[in-house]
Amino acid sequence: MRKNIEVAIDTIRLADGIVVEDNWFALRGLDESTIAIGEPAYHQRNWSYLISDGEDSLLFDTGSGRRPIAPLVERHGRAAVEAFPSHMHFDHLGNINAFGPVIVADLPMLRAIELDGLLTPTEDMFLGASEAVPVPTFELARWVAPGQSITVGSRDLQVLHTPGHSPDSVSLWEPDRCRLYAADFIYCGALYAQTPGASLRDYLRVCDTLLNDMPEQVQIVCAHGQPENGLDDAPILGYGDLEALRTVVAGLLRAEPRTGETRVNDRMHLLFSEASFTA
Ligand SMILES: [Zn+2]
Repeated sequence: MRKNIEVAIDTIRLADGIVVEDNWFALRGLDESTIAIGEPAYHQRNWSYLISDGEDSLLFDTGSGRRPIAPLVERHGRAAVEAFPSHMHFDHLGNINAFGPVIVADLPMLRAIELDGLLTPTEDMFLGASEAVPVPTFELARWVAPGQSITVGSRDLQVLHTPGHSPDSVSLWEPDRCRLYAADFIYCGALYAQTPGASLRDYLRVCDTLLNDMPEQVQIVCAHGQPENGLDDAPILGYGDLEALRTVVAGLLRAEPRTGETRVNDRMHLLFSEASFTA
């Protein structure tokens, strides 16, 4: 039987320095103007990122939707807040309509779900049925193509197309802070490459691109965590974790397609399906 979707926050052990707000969210300041917003009491342990400078804030993913995240963003964000979902899975689009028109990655499969300035993901993109979450319709602010940047005050965040987990996944690369906001491409715990649209070939190709383009000191902040040494904290990986993922995916692609799971390293394992070998 499936585990509980959520537990009480006071049953969760949090790392030093984490602050709980609204009896649900776990806040970790990554620096003076970037906050990781966790939901460790939700079984998927999502982490969203509030990136601010000057009068502007960008919310990269709007959370699971189990609790309203907008009041917290109102308290901690600047005057102008824009939301940008990393991909259309339901646990990254929670309460999306609390943020007005949203920035969307300019990708063909997302253009295909737009009508008159409104986007409605397909259930295959959204996957909310497993937790009875209805598909939202939300307003488009503007398209941002891979390779283009989103400006937050004086901060520059480059949009990278990072499929593998899902075809519509994007990450943000912030050269000034040497930080990759990787969303669901790579994170701590069980990496999902068994869901519709997941592709091991995409995983391999994007790993190669990132390993080529990212400096070895890159800080990779992720959209899901897991307790480590019994404590929940913002999930942060590094270059070596990308290398480990690349090695495992390359090994899988040399073998016959199958459905299963495999260890990546101490902090990650990878779930995959036969379909993810040929997608
Ligand atoms: Zn996802």
